Formats: sequence, structure tokens, C-alpha cells
Amino acid sequence: MKYYILFGPPGAGKGTQATAMVEKYNLRHISTGALLREEIAAGTELGLKAKALIDAGALVPDEVVEGMIENLFKTVKDVDGFLLDGFPRTIAQAEALDRILALGDEEVTSVVSIMIPDEMIKERIRHRAAIEGRADDASEETINNRIKTYHDKTEPLIDFYRKAGKYAEINGTGSIEEVRDAIFTLMDKF
Ligand code: AMP
Repeated sequence: MKYYILFGPPGAGKGTQATAMVEKYNLRHISTGALLREEIAAGTELGLKAKALIDAGALVPDEVVEGMIENLFKTVKDVDGFLLDGFPRTIAQAEALDRILALGDEEVTSVVSIMIPDEMIKERIRHRAAIEGRADDASEETINNRIKTYHDKTEPLIDFYRKAGKYAEINGTGSIEEVRDAIFTLMDKF
């Protein structure tokens, strides 16, 4: 099995590119953000707890998302691999992922990182807010917190995966097609 991580700041275009990637490489797309939004929509206890954190632009506890990921690895079999989108977001989650994969004698295949400058993050999120209507895209304060959370807690993963020799970065400022083609060229090498 391949285990790809789709990395990048909020608004980098991870969700958009994930659709093309899963189709071309027969992967199962796992977006922890989308899974959490499903829990909220279904009104589950987990969803209720997650909503306040998501609306504030904070992260949900590591164990919550780690459990979701582990569960899907166990149950989804009919694919060539997984595309993790929005996970891991902390060093602790990355370490947990390594532990979970090691149990099955597996490891992260590669990190595909889509990078855009901070100025573009807000522009992209504003654009998405008008299309998708996500609650956490609507408030300036939440967006600022998400950007801060990304820099403080998630960005250190770049070094983590660079040291492991698994980090590859793509310039995400081009058109959807340009970014997609750059990703495909990269993924064809793994
Ligand atoms: P996303 O759709 O990936 O932008 O995620 C939306 C929100 O869900 C984030 O701002 C977090 O509050 C929460 N979330 C998603 N994935 C994770 C994760 N791996 N760890 C903690 N919180 C997460």
C-alpha cells in the first residue's frame, strides 16, 4: 500500500488536487476535516465537541483524528493506497502515524506539499467561502487562528519529513492544471 500525505497551508488547494490524485492513482482520500464536518452534520457527540474547536480555528485533540485514520486503514482494502489530506497536523500525529503503519510493516511513502504564500491563503479561503459555505471560512478571526495554528503546530512537520527523506514541495500559486501536472510528475517517481 502507498501512504501519501497531502500537505500545505489552509487554502493551498489540497482538496481540489486530491480529487485528481485519488482517481489517477486509485487511492482512498482521507480528509480528517471532511470527516469531522460529517460528524458535526450528523450531530454526534464527537461532532459537538469538535465544532467549538473547529469554529475557533483550533485543532481537535490528536487522539480523535488518529482513531479515525487507524479505523479507515483497517477497513478500506480495495485501493492501491491512501491520500491523507489534513493529517498529520502535529508532530505527535506524525509519530502516531508512523507507529500505526509500523504495526502492519508499512511506512509513509511520501509527502506532497503544496505551498502558497500567506497573502494568498486568505484570498483563496475567501474565494472558497463563497462557493462551499464552510463555517470556518467565514470569520476573519477563525481564518487568522487557522493560519497561526498552521505555522505553530503543522509547519514543523516539514523538517520532520525532510529529515526522513520523504518531503517534496510543489509551487501552488499556478493554475489548478499546472499544479496538478506538477503533482503527477512528482508522484510518477514514487
Ligand atoms: P480542514 O478541512 O483540513 O481545513 O480541517 C478543518 C478543521 O478541522 C481544522 O481547522 C481543525 O480544526 C480540524 N482538523 C482537521 N484535521 C485535523 C487534524 N489532523 N488534527 C486536528 N484537527 C484537525
